Amino acid sequence: MRVSFHGAARCVTGSCHLVEAGGRKFLVDCGMFQGRDDMAQENRHPLGFDPREISAVLLTHAHLDHCGRLPLLVKEGFNGPVIATPATRDLTSIVLMDAAHILQEHSEHQERHQEHVPPPLYSLVDVFDTMRCFQKAVRYGEKISLAPGVEAVFRDAGHILGSASVQITETAGNARTRILFSGDLGSSGRSFLRPSDPPADSDVVVMETTYGDRNHRSYADSTAELRSLVAETFGRGGNVLIPTFALERTQELLFLFRKWDLEGFFPEGSRIFLDSPMAIRSTDVFERYAEAFDGEIQDLLSRHVDPFHFDRLTLARSSDDSRRINEFRGPAIILAGSGMLSGGRMMYHIEREIGNARSSLVFVGYQGEGTLGRELVDGAQTVKIFGQEREVHVNRAMINGFSAHADQKDLLDWCRKMAVPELALLVHGEERSMEGFRKVLPQVGWSHVTMPEMGESLFLPPRTL
Ligand SMILES: [Zn+2]
Repeated sequence: MRVSFHGAARCVTGSCHLVEAGGRKFLVDCGMFQGRDDMAQENRHPLGFDPREISAVLLTHAHLDHCGRLPLLVKEGFNGPVIATPATRDLTSIVLMDAAHILQEHSEHQERHQEHVPPPLYSLVDVFDTMRCFQKAVRYGEKISLAPGVEAVFRDAGHILGSASVQITETAGNARTRILFSGDLGSSGRSFLRPSDPPADSDVVVMETTYGDRNHRSYADSTAELRSLVAETFGRGGNVLIPTFALERTQELLFLFRKWDLEGFFPEGSRIFLDSPMAIRSTDVFERYAEAFDGEIQDLLSRHVDPFHFDRLTLARSSDDSRRINEFRGPAIILAGSGMLSGGRMMYHIEREIGNARSSLVFVGYQGEGTLGRELVDGAQTVKIFGQEREVHVNRAMINGFSAHADQKDLLDWCRKMAVPELALLVHGEERSMEGFRKVLPQVGWSHVTMPEMGESLFLPPRTL
């Protein structure tokens, strides 16, 4: 078996790993490189292999940095199956369609300002072609045959709905090689998805290290902070704006507000608005896979309580629905994209509230450099909104504990669930984070650890049984 790294090597985006086994080639993920500019130039670089030679893609989950280059792969000749869990398939369809729209808009915007703009990386048609490749949906734990002597198993990664770690095993006579790709791993303490469930042992583990050098604030502390912030803001007659990404974080907040609503926390006449068609569609997918949820949500479901929809919540699908939110006079929580204020419907709400000292703007996710979100988090006194310089009076807060990503403690706990592998390959992390994680890995007995370079290829010798 041979494994090569064509993305997420010493960085956090563009996950793409090539496995050669049983005389065939397989990809684990084919994600987009994301940076200051989502259309990072790296996505236009050659893939590093011939897409026509790939027999199948095993997709760990629906985040864009894991699935975002699939339409490009298909456009360049890949014609095999994309194998994923049913929830990943449904969410990937939403994520890729949104990506195609953004690519198109970005390209049109560029055309207005410069000549010789390359065509968008891919179009909606390429996304439809890609979705046709999702013929085979797998369940966690199900063994799938990839080639004679080669099989794969998907295991729950506890990161987002449908997320998986993937183990590939090649057997020839009495020799065997087994490699496990962690995918992105989930954080603990959230009462949302089931925890990760890796296989008992693997020879080689390819592991994400996004937060390998640090620990998050606890989920319980973060929800308590948000709760008092909402109470204070409503108390002084303001609104709470929460810029969110459509997938996972939104559903997690909806579930939290659902619980608070059942507890009678919200004052009479207050409302929650979800102003994002993509988030509404993603929430529909979550409703379809209720069996994936853990603890508290299962409790609600058993009492026939919908975890994501309730009377106090208004879904704004159309732009008219969105505009009507302005007419609401009571205290409100407004959830809308984009998560880093790089566009989207939230911009209109920010425009209205930026000068209102009674309202609060709450960030619950990472704010990339160069974004309006980052400027506001960093304390800018004036910012530009729709081309106009505006003074910032809205109360600002950053709450860190809502990450869907494992922190260092969670990553070590994941390692403890398995036998010590012969080799660990660290990926999907900045160098500082990987180095930080490598230093603590001896705590769980993992001693053979390397950090592959982009394009590096490793032969994995079989083990005699
Ligand atoms: Zn992810």
